[in-house]
Amino acid sequence: MSNVQVAVVTGSNKGIGLAIVRALCKQFPGDVYLTSRDPGRGQAAVAQLQQEGLQPLFHQLDIDDLQSIRALRDFLKEKYGGLNVLVNNAGIAFKVHDTTPFATQAEVTLKTNFFGTRNVCTELLPLMKPYGRVVNVSSMVSSSALGGCSQELQQKFRSDTITEDELVQLMTKFVEDTKKSVHQKEGWPNTAYGVSKIGVTVLSRIQARLLNEQRKGDHILLNACCPGWVRTDMAGPKATKSPDEGAETPVYLALLPSSADAPHGQFVSNKTVRPW
Ligand code: NAP
Repeated sequence: MSNVQVAVVTGSNKGIGLAIVRALCKQFPGDVYLTSRDPGRGQAAVAQLQQEGLQPLFHQLDIDDLQSIRALRDFLKEKYGGLNVLVNNAGIAFKVHDTTPFATQAEVTLKTNFFGTRNVCTELLPLMKPYGRVVNVSSMVSSSALGGCSQELQQKFRSDTITEDELVQLMTKFVEDTKKSVHQKEGWPNTAYGVSKIGVTVLSRIQARLLNEQRKGDHILLNACCPGWVRTDMAGPKATKSPDEGAETPVYLALLPSSADAPHGQFVSNKTVRPW
């Protein structure tokens, strides 16, 4: 088993994920895994970074596929005995003018952004080594969507005692409510992406709390963040930040020094903790 440190970035064949891998290759003292659900797209991205003189490694990972997540888990366990840095970056968003029925958009978006990210965490968080860093890429849209929720939902999502099971039930209820066209009556905002990212931010708060309870002394720091508005296939060419600029906050959180004990369990944008 290797003593080398290891970092994994999900959904990193393009966009912000690719830029995070680029920055980690330059700054992280260990192996950096570029992952992609499609090996062809992943290898092409690896080749692109190699042309820049960088040496990322590659592993397949589809966060919608539990077998794929478990194959990566087993690989990391066997080769490295764990994991030092995990960046949950993979995500999807329907375009604003997409005519796919809202209930379908809700189901598909939640499946990847919330349930897929959660499955990666369930399988990989137990592998995190002492002083590990976990970064869940959420969005400022999670804050605005929270503001669009009923008072009752806001209270639940801000609660310091909400459990992962309760969060899963709420995310499942949102999808069910959209199918019955009652989601707005039930207090949800009209944004599937926003609700999925509420899920990511709240999940991060819960996971950080669990780390405090169960692994105190391991100094693992886990946070959610917004990369900003970034020029990628998701956000389009009018966005204000380059992918490398969008990578800055996630990379800052991934490389928090071993002396740091904060931020932890926070929602961070522009390297600054934001109120939730
Ligand atoms: P992007 O260019 O569309 O890239 C998304 C990445 O996620 C791609 O590599 C994509 O792979 C991957 N992905 C999607 N579903 C996946 C799955 N099931 N398994 C594994 N990988 C999967 O988007 P981006 O702008 O870089 O977004 C990265 C993250 O930042 C997302 O979580 C997004 O919500 C968040 N974010 C972006 C912005 C922004 O302004 N761009 C703002 C706030 C938050 P494929 O190439 O195979 O599709």
